[in-house]
Order: sequence, then C-alpha cells, then structure tokens
Amino acid sequence: MQKDLLHRYIFDNLDVRGELVQLQQTFQEIIGNHDYPDAVQALLGELLVATSLLTATLKFEGEIAVQLQGDGPVKYAVINGDHQQNMRGIARLQDDVDGSSIQELLGQGYMVLTITPIKGERYQGIVPLTKPTLAECLEMYFEQSEQLQTRLWLATSTQSEHAKASGLLLQVLPVDQAKSKEDFKHLEALTDTIKAEEMLNLDAHTVLTRLYHEDNPKLFEPQHIQYRCGCSREKTIDALVNVGMDALLEDIAQHGEVKISCHYCLTDYRFNEQDVRAIFN
Ligand SMILES: [Zn+2]
Repeated sequence: MQKDLLHRYIFDNLDVRGELVQLQQTFQEIIGNHDYPDAVQALLGELLVATSLLTATLKFEGEIAVQLQGDGPVKYAVINGDHQQNMRGIARLQDDVDGSSIQELLGQGYMVLTITPIKGERYQGIVPLTKPTLAECLEMYFEQSEQLQTRLWLATSTQSEHAKASGLLLQVLPVDQAKSKEDFKHLEALTDTIKAEEMLNLDAHTVLTRLYHEDNPKLFEPQHIQYRCGCSREKTIDALVNVGMDALLEDIAQHGEVKISCHYCLTDYRFNEQDVRAIFN
C-alpha cells in the first residue's frame, strides 16, 4: 500500500470536508537517530500528522509550525511543514518521561501555531495544553481561532522499523450553519467507529469506503508528504558570517575546526581555516 500521502475528500450532499493522512517513511526519518523514548516518538508522530492535516487547510503558499512547549519532561516538540508537504521536526527533553498524556509529557504548557505565508503577514495562535490529548488541544484551537467545528482522530505505532502515523480530520464548510452542523454530527458518528489499527494499516480507499460508503466520499488527487530538513552548507555559512571571522578563527585555533550540527537532521557542517578565510574574502 502507498504511504506518505494526504487524501482530501468531500461529499455530494454534505457540507463537511475531510482529510486522511497516512505516514511511514516521513515519520521514520523524523524520529530516526534521535533515540527518543516511545511516548515522545508517538507525540512527534501525532504532531506530524496534525501538521500535515493543518497544512492542507492553508489557502496560500507558505509554512506552518506546530510547537508544544511546557515545563514537563518534554521541554518542547515542534513539526514544521509547508504547502508542498515537506516536513521536519524535533523534540527536546529535560527530564525522564513517565506517562503519555499531554500533561505527563509537557506539564503546564502551550501549543503555538505559527503560519507564515510566502506573501503576507505572519499569524500566530496560542492555546493552553489543558486537554489530555493533542487532538483535543487542536480541536480547541479550531474552535477559538477559526470558529469552525473540527474533529481530529490521530493514531501512531512506534514499533521499531515499522513506525507509522495516521490521522483523519473533519471540518464543517462555512455555509448553511444548521445543515452543516447536522451533516457534521452524522459524519462524526461514523468516523468515531474507526480503530487505530484500521487507520494505520488499511489503504485510504478501504478506510473511507468502510466509514462512509453510503455517503459517497469524493477523493481529490492525493498529495505526497516527504521529509525534508532544508538545512544546507550555504545556510550554515550565512549564520557563520554573523559570528565574524576573528571569533571563528579563534575557535579553529582551539578545536581544529568549526563544527555546526543541524538539530533536526543531525548533519554536521565542518569548516577549517581555509574555509573560513574563503567565506570572508
Ligand atoms: Zn538538517
């Protein structure tokens, strides 16, 4: 079955739209080499799915970052995505993890959603992490900031090389309120019957047919989702220019080289004296 796809769907006579995301490779690359505890892998999986679902609601080209921050064992976790479904992410721990609820992981904290269009103003939305699941925290965000009734179903499996993450989103269309509310209730009840294993393991068509066969879901062409860090030697050089040549040469005299590591993908960028002199010439 084909993984790492975002499916969008609508219905003939119902004023609700839906999205289904299924991820494997992208998720595995985000958690790969980082040695996160299981509960943190699962949190990043849910955050990844949620970011992908949210990215699909953007009506313009740009980037979105969904960040959780708190005073618990997980200091922060973030996934960055863009309208082409390029994803990267990271979590930072400050203590041993015990438990898997949002409060057990993040303690007292916030979810910060930052939307950065290529053209136009940056938008930031903040909601407190007062619900036990990420899905509920996001539903609260939609209720407060978009005033659009929205439900999310998120599922992850962190079994070694078979790590998978999946999610569903339903959202009312901003049309006739009474009708869309009824339609939403109907589809919400159907979607509530989905099991995590089904979301993770069945192909998209089977999932949607199983849930909505009587309501005729219409699928759009799916969009590919991929891991892409976006770091580069060029961008690292831009950052080094701000440090200044003298400070860099001093560092090289002490350590033999300047080494900059990307926090996201753990790539090392190394510079010797010759490299540094070339940058400033
Ligand atoms: Zn990187």
